[in-house]
Amino acid sequence: MLLQEFRDKFSTIVRVIRPVDTELFDQLLAVMNAQVQWKTQVNNITAFRIRRSKLNKIAIVLQLKRLTSSKWLTVSWRAGCLGYRPCTYPLQSAFRQAIYYQIKNWKRQAAKPKCQYCSSREQLQVDHVQPSFSELTKQFLSSVTKAEIPLVFNYQKFGGRSFRRNNRQFRIQWCKYHKTNSTFQWLCKPCNQKKH
Ligand SMILES: [Zn+2]
Repeated sequence: MLLQEFRDKFSTIVRVIRPVDTELFDQLLAVMNAQVQWKTQVNNITAFRIRRSKLNKIAIVLQLKRLTSSKWLTVSWRAGCLGYRPCTYPLQSAFRQAIYYQIKNWKRQAAKPKCQYCSSREQLQVDHVQPSFSELTKQFLSSVTKAEIPLVFNYQKFGGRSFRRNNRQFRIQWCKYHKTNSTFQWLCKPCNQKKH
């Protein structure tokens, strides 16, 4: 099942799903079966429950019960769907997502784009001239207190992250910092890969 299919299907079904709900139950079993650590345990699953995240009302939470326990266990449904890409650095992903509008604006203004290294006009990408994006995030993080750094994020459609509403101030601070301290240039994909 694709991530979006799962969302479309299960976002409205906020309840317990038992084996008697054959079609839904089997689909959820398949989602669990697609996760290596669950493969040998799917036969022990007795019920699923779909809930809403307390922190993020639109997020779907999947829970299940096993023969061996009466407790509901929260599990990942994303990891069992096609199109899922684990996000190794959620904070970096949210940083990137937050300033995407700046890159988009810059792209719009840049007339007749060409690669700054080889002048190619093919496969162009926007690159951060010094400091690099990761240096910018490091510098920014060193200017805030540890307590201010968000730990929980919203999920984006294709696996990335974004800042939550309650981290608005942090996001705005970051966007300002990025706007003041970043410079962009066009690089073609091969030159960009060589650079990084
Ligand atoms: Zn180039």
